[in-house]
Amino acid sequence: MVDRLVNSEANARRVHNVEQCFGSSGQPLGIPGRVLVGEGVLTKICRKRAKPRQFFLFNDALVYGNIIIHKKKYNKQHILALEDVKLENVNDDGNLRNGWKIINPKKSFVVYAATATEKKEWMAHIRKCVEDLLTQRGVSRSCSTDSPVWVPDSEAKNCMHCSKSEFSMVNRRHHCRHCGIVACNSCTSKRWLLPEQSTKPIRVCLTCYQKLSSQASQNNVTRKYSMNAGGDDRVSSGEDSSDDEDDATPAKQGETSEAEQLAIHDAHFHSYD
Ligand SMILES: [Zn+2]
Ligand SMILES: [Zn+2]
Repeated sequence: MVDRLVNSEANARRVHNVEQCFGSSGQPLGIPGRVLVGEGVLTKICRKRAKPRQFFLFNDALVYGNIIIHKKKYNKQHILALEDVKLENVNDDGNLRNGWKIINPKKSFVVYAATATEKKEWMAHIRKCVEDLLTQRGVSRSCSTDSPVWVPDSEAKNCMHCSKSEFSMVNRRHHCRHCGIVACNSCTSKRWLLPEQSTKPIRVCLTCYQKLSSQASQNNVTRKYSMNAGGDDRVSSGEDSSDDEDDATPAKQGETSEAEQLAIHDAHFHSYD
């Protein structure tokens, strides 16, 4: 199906259109051989709450962004290389239905589709694209390190490491970049270099720190990549404010913007094959 679209004018138009919608906030998307396979709105679980995001499935990448005007304007573009993407089912839980994990080295997360059928379609299409891509490139999956899905803030009243420390305005929540738990500052005082996520050592919990340290010593790797947060303010200052760029423009809790409502209204996965 995808083969038929590779050099088609319709495909070129659609790819160009996606690029236009992101405008200067996005990367050029029209690369030779790239096909837009499908698109639709999925609800993405961010650090604070669930938000609709426009997703575009290309034959080599999954692209998503915030919806400013549905079908017209998007920003905050993220591009995930499909060869690094893995999917994992998430079971229905109360109101949270039709979800799955999108696991990748940079930042894994959970998305929800509007219906079970749509979930099935999305997952099948993504998996097919990943498979085709890996076959085509003749590579087995790269053994890069996947990032954890972050536990949403609302799910932790207490530190998930020491279970004693209670969160408040002064005792802020932090996420371990290796396992994704929410923990207090002292339980995440260590830093470790996770090259897939950052060029600098980043926040990890004490359990992960120990695990990573012992792995490193087993592999006879020097500990030059680890450090204590206390010594270097540059590493810790303001770091968590950029934890989840999706929250950069906060809306009041419970408030749904017009764009978001429109998006929810017309959320269905649309495939081009
Ligand atoms: Zn703690
Ligand atoms: Zn951890």
